Amino acid sequence: MLQFGIDLGGTKTEIIVLDEQGRALLRQRTPTPAHSYDAIVANIGAMTDNAAATLGVSDFTLGIGIPGAVSPASGLVKNANTTCLIGKDFQGDLQQRLQRPVFLANDADCLALSEASDGAGAGYASVFAVIIGTGCGGGWVINGRLIGGPNAIAGEWGHNPLPWRSEEDGEFDCYCGQRGCLETLLSGTGLRRQALLETGQDRPAPQWQQQAISGDPQAVAVLNAYYRRLAKALAAVINLMDPHVIVLGGGVSNMPGIYDAVPRLWSDYVFSDTVLTPLKQAVHGDSSGVRGAAWLGAAR
Ligand SMILES: [Zn+2]
Repeated sequence: MLQFGIDLGGTKTEIIVLDEQGRALLRQRTPTPAHSYDAIVANIGAMTDNAAATLGVSDFTLGIGIPGAVSPASGLVKNANTTCLIGKDFQGDLQQRLQRPVFLANDADCLALSEASDGAGAGYASVFAVIIGTGCGGGWVINGRLIGGPNAIAGEWGHNPLPWRSEEDGEFDCYCGQRGCLETLLSGTGLRRQALLETGQDRPAPQWQQQAISGDPQAVAVLNAYYRRLAKALAAVINLMDPHVIVLGGGVSNMPGIYDAVPRLWSDYVFSDTVLTPLKQAVHGDSSGVRGAAWLGAAR
């Protein structure tokens, strides 16, 4: 059966149609009418209808990656930065419009599913994938299934505190109401803030990366300290769940040397004499959201 996936972003909405082997048969983008909830539902309905008509199919699954989560208590969208979705029965309204089942998941879950299905995590029994960019989200796929729980927060690694904290590690307030969350240290803005604390220099994360590549010793030191914090944070995941592979996506996944440095450093914290866990870069890059959405139908 064909698999339709839609990635609803703050500025663009993208649709992809995959066959069962993950080959893309169709891909289209439209601007997201982010000002109006009804317009978003109508736009997704029209994109789905158009793709089905173009391919001449009526039998397919449909998954949608959303910038937020669905509250298991209410069935309504929460934590969405496209704010007109908040408090809406998005799944119900889409199912009403399209007259078919619709599966929703957040961007980190879509990354995990995309990479587990035919990316860096393909062939591994369990995959923990994290997007580290402006935020810091994670998702779990075990035996091809996306793991959910009663609170719909499986993989929300970024809102745990940094373990094995040292004096140099900053303790910043997080928007979630806590202090010292991983996200406040490991996201792009977290790297910037921590580097400012260490060096007195305020530079965006990509600039630190670029300077490290060109051999600037201060930037190399900033990244090495970052890698140790990331290693601590992932060592806690390995101790808890021992995933068969860890996949990184988002801006941080392009950092120089990360796939050598972090596995070398996490050995200091993992409760094992040897650590065999591979750390890999996501292979589908910016397409992981829409591709993962397309795999949702098969994974639920
Ligand atoms: Zn937090």
